[in-house]
Amino acid sequence: MSAVILVVEDEPAIQTLLEVNLRRAGYEVQLAPDAETGRRLVQAVLPDLVLLDWMLPGMSGIDFARLLRSDARTRLLPIIMLTARAEERDKIDGLDLGADDYVTKPFSPRELLARIKAVLRRHAPQTTGDVVEIGGLRLDPTTHRVSCCNEGAVTELVFGPTEFRLLHYLMTHPERVHTRTQLLDQVWGDHVFVEERTVDVHIRRLRAVLEPSGTDGLIQTVRGSGYRISVA
Ligand code: CA
Repeated sequence: MSAVILVVEDEPAIQTLLEVNLRRAGYEVQLAPDAETGRRLVQAVLPDLVLLDWMLPGMSGIDFARLLRSDARTRLLPIIMLTARAEERDKIDGLDLGADDYVTKPFSPRELLARIKAVLRRHAPQTTGDVVEIGGLRLDPTTHRVSCCNEGAVTELVFGPTEFRLLHYLMTHPERVHTRTQLLDQVWGDHVFVEERTVDVHIRRLRAVLEPSGTDGLIQTVRGSGYRISVA
């Protein structure tokens, strides 16, 4: 699942530079020349990360960041602020907006990509290509392969696309209980209208594939709350 990055930037040259580099790195990119457009895009589909320019026509990047932080739906949305000068960055630091990182222009695309990756690894590990391992299961998002190592024997497990995404999400967020609503938002995408019991159906399918290898017990039902993956 490639991460969706919303770029809010008014300078066409920088917009293009960002778009080209982000797409080349495998991200899906949404572009907004101002905060109002950014806001509409966020309302339609929640991105995985926002690259936000400070100086924008109309609502400033700072005000937009504040707005995102004040709304429950976007409160935890990772934000990287782009600032024109080091002094702007100092000012932003002083404002304590809760941005996850700051990048000063002019920036090297390589450095920016490294920062994006670090923020996504922290806040949305299911969007990175990192291999995850838990309880004998090994999932490689790049090759879409899941294998199970049981007493030295390695078995390949084959999942449908939704089960794969669900397993990937659970494996990148282990030990935590996820409600059905949270799983729908994260795995199916928010603003996708699917009934909550759809989650149960896919959990059942997931367990059915895991069962022969004895790893289905990793997926635990937490009565009244939801599901979690746990080695305990
Ligand atoms: Ca600007």
